[in-house]
Amino acid sequence: MNVLIYAESKDRGFKKAINDAVYYGKQVANNTGGKCIAMALGSVDNPSELGQYGVDLVIHDGAEKFDAFDSVQHTKALVQAAKDHHCNLVIIADTANGKSIAGRVAINLEAGLVSMVNALPLSYDPLMVSRTVFSGKAIAKYQFQTENKVMTLAGNSIKAEKQDRVAEVQKMSFNVPDAMVKVLAQETVKGEVPLPEAELVVSAGRGMKGPENWGIIEDLAHTLGATTACSRPVADSDWRPHHEHVGQTGVAIRPNLYIAIGISGAIQHLAGVNNSKTIVVINKDPEAPFFKAADYGVVGDLFEVVPRLTEALKKYKSQNS
Ligand SMILES: Cc1cc2nc3c(=O)[nH]c(=O)nc-3n(C[C@H](O)[C@H](O)[C@H](O)COP(=O)(O)OP(=O)(O)OC[C@H]3O[C@@H](n4cnc5c(N)ncnc54)[C@H](O)[C@@H]3O)c2cc1C
Repeated sequence: MNVLIYAESKDRGFKKAINDAVYYGKQVANNTGGKCIAMALGSVDNPSELGQYGVDLVIHDGAEKFDAFDSVQHTKALVQAAKDHHCNLVIIADTANGKSIAGRVAINLEAGLVSMVNALPLSYDPLMVSRTVFSGKAIAKYQFQTENKVMTLAGNSIKAEKQDRVAEVQKMSFNVPDAMVKVLAQETVKGEVPLPEAELVVSAGRGMKGPENWGIIEDLAHTLGATTACSRPVADSDWRPHHEHVGQTGVAIRPNLYIAIGISGAIQHLAGVNNSKTIVVINKDPEAPFFKAADYGVVGDLFEVVPRLTEALKKYKSQNS
Protein backbone atom coordinates (compact mmCIF):
# COMPACT_ATOMS: atom_id res chain seq x y z
CA MET A 1 0.00 0.00 0.00
CA ASN A 2 1.37 3.44 -0.92
CA VAL A 3 1.34 5.84 2.03
CA LEU A 4 1.19 9.64 1.86
CA ILE A 5 2.41 11.83 4.72
CA TYR A 6 1.27 15.43 5.10
CA ALA A 7 4.66 17.02 5.83
CA GLU A 8 3.60 20.24 7.57
CA SER A 9 6.41 22.78 7.53
CA LYS A 10 7.53 25.34 10.10
CA ASP A 11 10.30 27.96 9.83
CA ARG A 12 11.44 26.49 6.47
CA GLY A 13 11.89 23.02 8.02
CA PHE A 14 9.69 20.28 9.48
CA LYS A 15 8.26 19.77 12.96
CA LYS A 16 9.41 16.76 15.01
CA ALA A 17 5.88 15.36 14.74
CA ILE A 18 6.44 15.01 10.97
CA ASN A 19 9.49 12.78 11.48
CA ASP A 20 7.32 10.48 13.61
CA ALA A 21 4.54 10.45 10.98
CA VAL A 22 7.07 9.65 8.25
CA TYR A 23 8.60 6.83 10.27
CA TYR A 24 5.12 5.44 10.90
CA GLY A 25 4.32 5.63 7.18
CA LYS A 26 7.54 3.83 6.30
CA GLN A 27 6.66 0.91 8.58
CA VAL A 28 3.24 0.60 6.90
CA ALA A 29 4.76 0.85 3.39
CA ASN A 30 7.43 -1.76 4.20
CA ASN A 31 4.89 -4.17 5.67
CA THR A 32 2.40 -3.82 2.80
CA GLY A 33 4.77 -3.61 -0.15
CA GLY A 34 4.24 0.07 -1.03
CA LYS A 35 6.04 3.40 -1.22
CA CYS A 36 6.32 6.06 1.47
CA ILE A 37 5.63 9.46 -0.09
CA ALA A 38 5.46 12.89 1.58
CA MET A 39 3.85 16.11 0.41
CA ALA A 40 5.38 19.44 1.48
CA LEU A 41 3.88 22.84 0.71
CA GLY A 42 5.40 26.32 0.82
CA SER A 43 8.92 27.46 1.70
CA VAL A 44 11.04 24.52 2.82
CA ASP A 45 14.85 24.63 2.55
CA ASN A 46 15.59 20.94 2.30
CA PRO A 47 12.59 18.67 1.61
CA SER A 48 14.88 15.72 0.83
CA GLU A 49 15.82 15.50 4.56
CA LEU A 50 12.60 13.52 5.13
CA GLY A 51 14.47 10.59 3.60
CA GLN A 52 16.23 10.22 6.98
CA TYR A 53 13.01 8.90 8.49
CA GLY A 54 11.98 6.73 5.54
CA VAL A 55 10.40 8.83 2.78
CA ASP A 56 11.13 7.55 -0.73
CA LEU A 57 9.71 10.56 -2.59
CA VAL A 58 8.80 14.12 -1.52
CA ILE A 59 6.30 16.00 -3.67
CA HIS A 60 7.02 19.68 -3.09
CA ASP A 61 5.10 22.76 -4.21
CA GLY A 62 7.14 25.70 -2.91
CA ALA A 63 4.63 28.40 -3.90
CA GLU A 64 4.51 31.26 -1.39
CA LYS A 65 0.71 31.11 -1.23
CA PHE A 66 1.05 27.94 0.88
CA ASP A 67 3.13 29.63 3.60
CA ALA A 68 0.09 31.08 5.38
CA PHE A 69 -1.84 27.91 6.21
CA ASP A 70 -5.29 27.70 4.61
CA SER A 71 -7.11 24.44 5.31
CA VAL A 72 -9.00 24.39 1.98
CA GLN A 73 -5.85 24.89 -0.10
CA HIS A 74 -3.83 22.33 1.85
CA THR A 75 -6.70 19.80 1.72
CA LYS A 76 -7.05 20.18 -2.07
CA ALA A 77 -3.32 19.64 -2.63
CA LEU A 78 -3.17 16.63 -0.29
CA VAL A 79 -6.18 14.95 -1.89
CA GLN A 80 -4.75 15.52 -5.37
CA ALA A 81 -1.37 14.08 -4.34
CA ALA A 82 -3.06 11.00 -2.80
CA LYS A 83 -5.02 10.38 -6.00
CA ASP A 84 -2.08 11.04 -8.36
CA HIS A 85 0.21 8.65 -6.49
CA HIS A 86 -2.42 5.98 -5.67
CA CYS A 87 -1.92 6.33 -1.92
CA ASN A 88 -4.56 4.43 0.07
CA LEU A 89 -3.35 5.68 3.43
CA VAL A 90 -2.82 9.35 4.36
CA ILE A 91 -1.03 10.05 7.65
CA ILE A 92 -1.36 13.49 9.25
CA ALA A 93 0.42 14.56 12.48
CA ASP A 94 -2.18 15.54 15.09
CA THR A 95 -1.17 19.23 15.23
CA ALA A 96 -3.64 22.14 15.18
CA ASN A 97 -3.30 22.41 11.38
CA GLY A 98 -3.36 18.63 10.94
CA LYS A 99 -6.59 18.38 12.95
CA SER A 100 -8.20 21.05 10.79
CA ILE A 101 -7.64 19.18 7.51
CA ALA A 102 -7.99 15.51 8.53
CA GLY A 103 -11.80 15.43 8.33
CA ARG A 104 -11.91 17.29 5.02
CA VAL A 105 -9.30 14.97 3.49
CA ALA A 106 -11.21 11.88 4.66
CA ILE A 107 -14.48 13.13 3.16
CA ASN A 108 -12.81 13.97 -0.17
CA LEU A 109 -11.19 10.52 -0.39
CA GLU A 110 -14.27 8.69 0.95
CA ALA A 111 -11.92 7.30 3.55
CA GLY A 112 -12.33 5.93 7.05
CA LEU A 113 -10.68 8.22 9.62
CA VAL A 114 -9.05 7.37 12.95
CA SER A 115 -7.66 10.30 14.95
CA MET A 116 -4.96 10.37 17.67
CA VAL A 117 -3.46 6.97 16.81
CA ASN A 118 -0.96 6.24 19.58
CA ALA A 119 1.20 3.29 18.46
CA LEU A 120 2.46 1.40 15.41
CA PRO A 121 -0.29 -0.74 13.79
CA LEU A 122 -1.54 -3.82 15.63
CA SER A 123 -1.83 -5.50 12.21
CA TYR A 124 -1.05 -4.35 8.66
CA ASP A 125 -3.44 -6.45 6.59
CA PRO A 126 -6.13 -5.61 7.51
CA LEU A 127 -4.84 -2.33 8.94
CA MET A 128 -5.67 -2.16 12.65
CA VAL A 129 -4.62 0.75 14.86
CA SER A 130 -5.11 1.89 18.45
CA ARG A 131 -5.68 5.06 20.44
CA THR A 132 -6.33 5.91 24.07
CA VAL A 133 -9.86 6.84 25.17
CA PHE A 134 -11.55 8.03 28.38
CA SER A 135 -8.67 10.37 29.30
CA GLY A 136 -6.09 7.64 28.85
CA LYS A 137 -7.90 5.06 31.01
CA ALA A 138 -8.55 2.60 28.16
CA ILE A 139 -7.25 1.70 24.71
CA ALA A 140 -9.59 1.34 21.71
CA LYS A 141 -8.66 -0.73 18.64
CA TYR A 142 -9.92 0.20 15.16
CA GLN A 143 -9.92 -1.82 11.95
CA PHE A 144 -10.31 0.19 8.73
CA GLN A 145 -13.18 -1.02 6.53
CA THR A 146 -12.53 1.31 3.57
CA GLU A 147 -10.07 1.12 0.69
CA ASN A 148 -8.84 4.65 1.44
CA LYS A 149 -7.76 5.42 4.97
CA VAL A 150 -6.80 8.58 6.88
CA MET A 151 -5.26 8.76 10.34
CA THR A 152 -3.84 11.44 12.59
CA LEU A 153 -0.88 10.45 14.74
CA ALA A 154 -0.73 11.68 18.36
CA GLY A 155 2.45 13.55 19.35
CA ASN A 156 5.28 11.59 21.02
CA SER A 157 3.51 8.28 20.41
CA ILE A 158 6.38 6.52 18.62
CA LYS A 159 10.15 6.90 18.52
CA ALA A 160 11.31 7.65 14.97
CA GLU A 161 14.67 6.12 14.04
CA LYS A 162 16.98 8.15 11.82
CA GLN A 163 18.96 6.77 8.88
CA ASP A 164 21.64 8.29 6.69
CA ARG A 165 19.66 8.73 3.47
CA VAL A 166 17.89 11.44 1.47
CA ALA A 167 14.63 11.30 -0.45
CA GLU A 168 14.03 12.07 -4.10
CA VAL A 169 12.20 15.40 -4.52
CA GLN A 170 9.63 16.00 -7.25
CA LYS A 171 8.62 19.63 -7.90
CA MET A 172 4.90 20.08 -8.32
CA SER A 173 2.43 22.88 -8.91
CA PHE A 174 -0.97 22.26 -7.33
CA ASN A 175 -3.99 24.04 -8.73
CA VAL A 176 -5.88 25.27 -5.65
CA PRO A 177 -8.50 28.02 -5.11
CA ASP A 178 -7.64 31.36 -3.50
CA ALA A 179 -7.36 31.29 0.30
CA MET A 180 -10.71 31.80 2.03
CA VAL A 181 -9.21 33.62 4.99
CA LYS A 182 -6.19 35.90 5.24
CA VAL A 183 -3.70 35.66 8.12
CA LEU A 184 -3.01 39.24 9.22
CA ALA A 185 -0.50 38.57 11.98
CA GLN A 186 0.98 35.57 13.73
CA GLU A 187 2.78 35.49 17.06
CA THR A 188 4.66 32.31 17.88
CA VAL A 189 6.23 31.35 21.17
CA LYS A 190 9.99 31.27 20.78
CA GLY A 191 12.69 29.40 22.64
CA GLU A 192 10.95 26.34 24.07
CA VAL A 193 9.89 23.01 22.58
CA PRO A 194 6.11 23.44 22.06
CA LEU A 195 4.08 21.54 24.69
CA PRO A 196 2.50 18.97 22.30
CA GLU A 197 6.00 17.94 21.16
CA ALA A 198 7.80 18.20 24.51
CA GLU A 199 9.34 15.05 25.97
CA LEU A 200 9.96 16.63 29.38
CA VAL A 201 7.43 18.94 31.06
CA VAL A 202 7.61 20.75 34.42
CA SER A 203 4.17 21.98 35.42
CA ALA A 204 2.90 23.94 38.41
CA GLY A 205 -0.41 24.91 39.95
CA ARG A 206 -2.05 27.12 42.54
CA GLY A 207 0.21 25.68 45.25
CA MET A 208 2.82 28.16 43.95
CA LYS A 209 0.85 30.96 45.70
CA GLY A 210 1.68 33.60 43.07
CA PRO A 211 3.53 34.37 39.81
CA GLU A 212 6.48 35.88 41.68
CA ASN A 213 7.49 32.37 42.82
CA TRP A 214 7.84 30.86 39.33
CA GLY A 215 11.63 31.25 39.31
CA ILE A 216 12.08 27.86 41.03
CA ILE A 217 9.92 26.18 38.34
CA GLU A 218 11.86 27.82 35.51
CA ASP A 219 15.14 26.89 37.16
CA LEU A 220 14.11 23.21 37.40
CA ALA A 221 12.78 23.22 33.81
CA HIS A 222 15.95 24.87 32.51
CA THR A 223 18.15 22.33 34.34
CA LEU A 224 16.22 19.44 32.81
CA GLY A 225 15.78 21.04 29.37
CA ALA A 226 12.01 20.80 29.92
CA THR A 227 9.05 22.86 28.72
CA THR A 228 6.94 24.62 31.38
CA ALA A 229 3.19 24.14 31.80
CA CYS A 230 0.51 25.05 34.35
CA SER A 231 -2.98 24.28 35.62
CA ARG A 232 -5.97 26.24 34.34
CA PRO A 233 -6.58 28.52 37.36
CA VAL A 234 -2.95 29.62 37.08
CA ALA A 235 -3.46 30.73 33.47
CA ASP A 236 -6.90 32.18 34.26
CA SER A 237 -5.31 34.34 36.97
CA ASP A 238 -2.69 35.53 34.49
CA TRP A 239 0.12 34.07 36.57
CA ARG A 240 1.27 32.28 33.40
CA PRO A 241 0.43 32.64 29.68
CA HIS A 242 -2.57 30.70 28.35
CA HIS A 243 -0.53 28.57 25.94
CA GLU A 244 0.95 26.81 29.02
CA HIS A 245 -2.42 25.62 30.31
CA VAL A 246 -2.76 21.82 30.06
CA GLY A 247 -5.85 19.71 30.60
CA GLN A 248 -9.32 19.09 29.24
CA THR A 249 -9.73 22.70 28.10
CA GLY A 250 -6.04 23.30 27.47
CA VAL A 251 -3.29 21.49 25.62
CA ALA A 252 -3.27 17.66 25.75
CA ILE A 253 0.28 16.34 26.12
CA ARG A 254 2.08 12.97 26.13
CA PRO A 255 5.64 13.64 27.35
CA ASN A 256 8.03 10.98 28.61
CA LEU A 257 8.19 12.81 31.96
CA TYR A 258 5.55 15.09 33.55
CA ILE A 259 6.47 16.71 36.88
CA ALA A 260 3.37 18.18 38.57
CA ILE A 261 4.16 20.65 41.35
CA GLY A 262 1.49 22.06 43.67
CA ILE A 263 -1.32 20.75 41.44
CA SER A 264 -4.21 18.89 43.08
CA GLY A 265 -4.90 16.51 40.16
CA ALA A 266 -8.52 17.37 39.34
CA ILE A 267 -10.09 15.15 36.68
CA GLN A 268 -10.10 18.04 34.16
CA HIS A 269 -6.33 18.48 34.60
CA LEU A 270 -5.63 14.74 34.40
CA ALA A 271 -7.59 14.53 31.12
CA GLY A 272 -4.77 16.38 29.37
CA VAL A 273 -1.74 14.78 31.04
CA ASN A 274 -2.79 11.17 31.79
CA ASN A 275 -0.98 9.88 28.70
CA SER A 276 2.41 11.00 30.04
CA LYS A 277 4.74 8.00 30.28
CA THR A 278 6.04 8.84 33.77
CA ILE A 279 4.29 11.18 36.20
CA VAL A 280 6.04 12.67 39.25
CA VAL A 281 3.90 14.56 41.77
CA ILE A 282 5.13 16.99 44.41
CA ASN A 283 2.39 18.04 46.82
CA LYS A 284 2.23 18.77 50.55
CA ASP A 285 -1.17 17.06 50.90
CA PRO A 286 -0.80 13.24 51.00
CA GLU A 287 -4.51 12.99 50.08
CA ALA A 288 -4.11 15.03 46.85
CA PRO A 289 -5.87 13.05 44.05
CA PHE A 290 -2.84 13.42 41.75
CA PHE A 291 -0.94 10.81 43.80
CA LYS A 292 -3.33 8.12 42.47
CA ALA A 293 -2.13 8.84 38.91
CA ALA A 294 1.55 9.22 39.87
CA ASP A 295 4.43 6.84 39.20
CA TYR A 296 6.54 8.66 41.81
CA GLY A 297 5.36 11.04 44.51
CA VAL A 298 6.98 13.38 47.01
CA VAL A 299 4.86 14.55 49.95
CA GLY A 300 6.37 17.83 51.02
CA ASP A 301 6.45 21.60 50.74
CA LEU A 302 7.31 22.47 47.13
CA PHE A 303 9.29 25.52 48.26
CA GLU A 304 11.70 23.13 49.99
CA VAL A 305 11.53 20.12 47.64
CA VAL A 306 11.88 21.84 44.25
CA PRO A 307 15.08 23.85 44.97
CA ARG A 308 16.66 20.72 46.49
CA LEU A 309 15.68 18.63 43.47
CA THR A 310 17.13 21.24 41.10
CA GLU A 311 20.33 21.41 43.15
CA ALA A 312 20.71 17.62 43.05
CA LEU A 313 20.13 17.57 39.28
CA LYS A 314 22.70 20.33 38.71
CA LYS A 315 25.23 18.40 40.79
CA TYR A 316 24.49 15.19 38.88
CA LYS A 317 24.85 16.99 35.55
CA SER A 318 28.17 18.60 36.49
CA GLN A 319 29.56 15.23 37.65
CA ASN A 320 28.39 13.42 34.52
CA SER A 321 29.08 15.92 31.75
C1 LIG B 1 -15.31 22.52 32.65
C2 LIG B 1 -14.00 22.60 33.38
C3 LIG B 1 -12.83 22.46 32.66
C4 LIG B 1 -11.60 22.54 33.31
N1 LIG B 1 -10.44 22.38 32.58
C5 LIG B 1 -9.25 22.38 33.23
C6 LIG B 1 -8.04 22.16 32.51
O1 LIG B 1 -8.04 22.00 31.29
N2 LIG B 1 -6.89 22.15 33.22
C7 LIG B 1 -6.83 22.35 34.57
O2 LIG B 1 -5.74 22.33 35.15
N3 LIG B 1 -7.96 22.57 35.27
C8 LIG B 1 -9.16 22.59 34.63
N4 LIG B 1 -10.29 22.84 35.35
C9 LIG B 1 -10.16 23.21 36.77
C10 LIG B 1 -10.00 22.00 37.69
O3 LIG B 1 -11.24 21.48 38.04
C11 LIG B 1 -9.23 22.38 38.97
O4 LIG B 1 -9.96 23.42 39.60
C12 LIG B 1 -7.81 22.87 38.72
O5 LIG B 1 -7.10 21.93 37.95
C13 LIG B 1 -7.09 23.07 40.05
O6 LIG B 1 -5.86 23.69 39.82
P1 LIG B 1 -4.67 23.49 40.84
O7 LIG B 1 -4.46 22.05 41.09
O8 LIG B 1 -3.54 24.31 40.37
O9 LIG B 1 -5.22 24.24 42.16
P2 LIG B 1 -5.78 23.65 43.52
O10 LIG B 1 -6.91 22.73 43.30
O11 LIG B 1 -6.01 24.83 44.39
O12 LIG B 1 -4.60 22.76 44.11
C14 LIG B 1 -3.40 23.29 44.58
C15 LIG B 1 -2.58 22.12 45.14
O13 LIG B 1 -1.34 22.63 45.59
C16 LIG B 1 -1.01 21.94 46.81
N5 LIG B 1 -0.12 22.84 47.57
C17 LIG B 1 -0.44 24.03 48.14
N6 LIG B 1 0.66 24.57 48.71
C18 LIG B 1 1.68 23.69 48.51
C19 LIG B 1 3.05 23.67 48.89
N7 LIG B 1 3.60 24.69 49.58
N8 LIG B 1 3.80 22.61 48.53
C20 LIG B 1 3.26 21.56 47.84
N9 LIG B 1 1.95 21.53 47.47
C21 LIG B 1 1.18 22.58 47.78
C22 LIG B 1 -2.33 21.70 47.50
O14 LIG B 1 -2.24 20.60 48.41
C23 LIG B 1 -3.25 21.39 46.31
O15 LIG B 1 -3.28 20.00 46.04
C24 LIG B 1 -11.54 22.77 34.72
C25 LIG B 1 -12.74 22.89 35.43
C26 LIG B 1 -13.95 22.82 34.78
C27 LIG B 1 -15.22 22.95 35.59
